[in-house]
Amino acid sequence: MDPLQHAVEEASKSPPKKARDKKREALKAKQANRKFKGASAPDPSLGISLEDFTSFTETLKTSKRIFALLGAGLSAGSGLVTFRGSDRLWRGIEPQDLSDPQAFFDDPAKVWWFFSDRMKRAQEAKPNSAHVALVKLAEHKEGFFAVNQNIDGLCERAGFPPSQIAQIHGTLFKIKCSKHSAEKDKCDYVTEATYPVNESLTIPYDVDISDAAAPLPDVGVNDLPRCPKCDNLLRPAVVFFGEATPLSITERTYNFTSNGPIDIMLVIGTSAVVLPAAMYIPVARNAGAKVAFFNMEESDEGLATAWPGDWMFKGDAAATVADMLKGVVGNVGGRGGMN
Ligand SMILES: [Zn+2]
Repeated sequence: MDPLQHAVEEASKSPPKKARDKKREALKAKQANRKFKGASAPDPSLGISLEDFTSFTETLKTSKRIFALLGAGLSAGSGLVTFRGSDRLWRGIEPQDLSDPQAFFDDPAKVWWFFSDRMKRAQEAKPNSAHVALVKLAEHKEGFFAVNQNIDGLCERAGFPPSQIAQIHGTLFKIKCSKHSAEKDKCDYVTEATYPVNESLTIPYDVDISDAAAPLPDVGVNDLPRCPKCDNLLRPAVVFFGEATPLSITERTYNFTSNGPIDIMLVIGTSAVVLPAAMYIPVARNAGAKVAFFNMEESDEGLATAWPGDWMFKGDAAATVADMLKGVVGNVGGRGGMN
């Protein structure tokens, strides 16, 4: 037997060192994989691929400047209506016809009932796991800034740092003088509010006033809340349809988007068809952002269309957002309302 063959035979008797190392490596990988699956693989019920989960998580981890656009779908998991589909009507009326300066001028009591109803529902709702995960992301990443189209106050109640969020449509939980946006003799009175704004605007127990069949309580214009400074009617401090977003809010958003490259944009629970909010997607792309969409439906037209390299996470945002963010912020628990 020549020495070379002898060496080969000897080597084959006991597992060579290399093979043992390989085995150990495989075991290590298996353990790591198990750990990874336990803490940070997507929930199988969401139908999201491990590849998408991993690439999104890795990008989010290394991202310094993160931009988000939040819409009604974020709060759907908290039981609030999204104003799409058949449940959007209030007493058979389109919400935009009630959230309207002319409607307030014509029938302030009806507009106040509409907003009182929304205040009550929002006040009774609880932030869901997506709100909580986003708050944790804001705490982890000081370069995270969100534009919130929701007026339900759930982001604030979940603890979103005020400096990192812009309420571009205002909030149900503030009221202001109806002469606030007047050009002449403008009154700047604004104050915080909770449901009911006053005793006259209390919805009768067990009555669903969003149903046109239920009688709307009679309330005179003199019973509506009045400005303590100028005695004009107070109104919800929300941006009515056709009104401009307050300049200070627009400026804060501009300051973020123009202050350097954006690594990633999260578009959550919004079809992004309403301007100017929809414009933030191309603004972020121009600043270098890849976009992650968290929506019930995939859009195939307009600004909310996913580009190659983007992520599309379909489903209830309360579930998908919390699950996709857990690689960075940890597990925030269930899908539903926070207790
Ligand atoms: Zn006033």
